Amino acid sequence: MDLQAETTDVLKRLVRFNTVNPPGNERPAIEYLAEYLREAGFEVELLSATEDRPNLVATLEGTDHGPSLCFLGHVDTVLAEASEWSHDPWSGDVADGFLWGRGALDMKSQVAAEAVAAAALASEGWRPRGQLKLVFVCDEETGGAKGAHWLTENHPDKVRCDMLLNEGGGEVFEYRGRRRYGVCCAEKGIFRFKVTARGAAGHASLPRTGDNALLKLAPVLTALAERQPPYDVTEAPAALLRGLGEDPSDPEAAVARIREVEPALLTLVEPMLGVTMTPTMAQASEKINVIPSRAYVKVDCRVPPGLGQELAERRLQELLGADGPLEIEFTETATGNASAVASPLMDAIDRWIGDNDPGADTVPVILPGGSDSRWFREAFPDCVAYGFFPQRHMTILDVAPLVHNADERIDVRDLGFAAGFYADLARELLG
Ligand SMILES: [Zn+2]
Repeated sequence: MDLQAETTDVLKRLVRFNTVNPPGNERPAIEYLAEYLREAGFEVELLSATEDRPNLVATLEGTDHGPSLCFLGHVDTVLAEASEWSHDPWSGDVADGFLWGRGALDMKSQVAAEAVAAAALASEGWRPRGQLKLVFVCDEETGGAKGAHWLTENHPDKVRCDMLLNEGGGEVFEYRGRRRYGVCCAEKGIFRFKVTARGAAGHASLPRTGDNALLKLAPVLTALAERQPPYDVTEAPAALLRGLGEDPSDPEAAVARIREVEPALLTLVEPMLGVTMTPTMAQASEKINVIPSRAYVKVDCRVPPGLGQELAERRLQELLGADGPLEIEFTETATGNASAVASPLMDAIDRWIGDNDPGADTVPVILPGGSDSRWFREAFPDCVAYGFFPQRHMTILDVAPLVHNADERIDVRDLGFAAGFYADLARELLG
């Protein structure tokens, strides 16, 4: 089977199902994938929290005892404003060597490559030792309540696995003349907080009346504009820095060198190294002519995997200095999650890259945001879950700005590259 042609065809079909979430409407896409895998020899099952939004569990049973490997993907997407695109976002057009459309990167492409690789193996009669599982879910983009979260909570026995591959890594990048592929081993936690200042109301035409709470937030915003907390380097980012030839015990020096060599890369690497704080929402007076007695700013704070609110609070106090008349309230908290950096799965990925892009190697990375890997790591503490979708022809600097943006597209050669990877990996780990 020509994996590139087949993956391109499957991706085109997936892009043409509009699965913008909300509302998602993933059923037609999931049914198409179920039929595709059933024909190849998989046992398929649809499991759903609500009728129109099923999840697919497809299993190729083994001939013997052995490990279970799961390829995970979500079929929903974020919205797209067609007028901003040069190709219709639901066309799946192939032009200039790219397949264009919403989901072409995040992440119908990976779903297509996983499905095609698995179907190719199954239809040529290959059977695993252990078990090969494909889990394609709905509802990732709004948190997984009907997708991976629901599935791991309500049907753990159907989706339990020893090794899992999901989104979150795999695009090539170059650093000091060497090509590297990031394998995503962990995700940062979320510790969002609200900083409230209080004062006294008054008439806005008399600025010296009352006590303007909004102005008390100015030093907070200035502090957040001027600096970020110092680095807290955890396991995977330390291994990343070592892999780049930098010293993880001196992150400031490492950051300075990355800034010098490849400044665009630093935008992606620096948030992995510590707590970040980004103010995104604010509110003060309800009326233009009333001096606010209360004002707040909401800050989206992300904390390295395994570390918690105590660290976020400490980093915030350092940033703001003396307490002042401010109240701090954490409104949303979730500790980050991680899989071990060293594992047989990591070794297999690393070997494959060495064989298929000679001279290149892999480095661990962490996701500053979140993905469905979280639910699997939470439900199955022994499961090693990584984000890896190898892309050789588009670099991470090409890919990052297109995700969730207009003109999302993928180099069709990478569809064949990735499908080859999933097929080879299953053969090696379950052979
Ligand atoms: Zn995604």
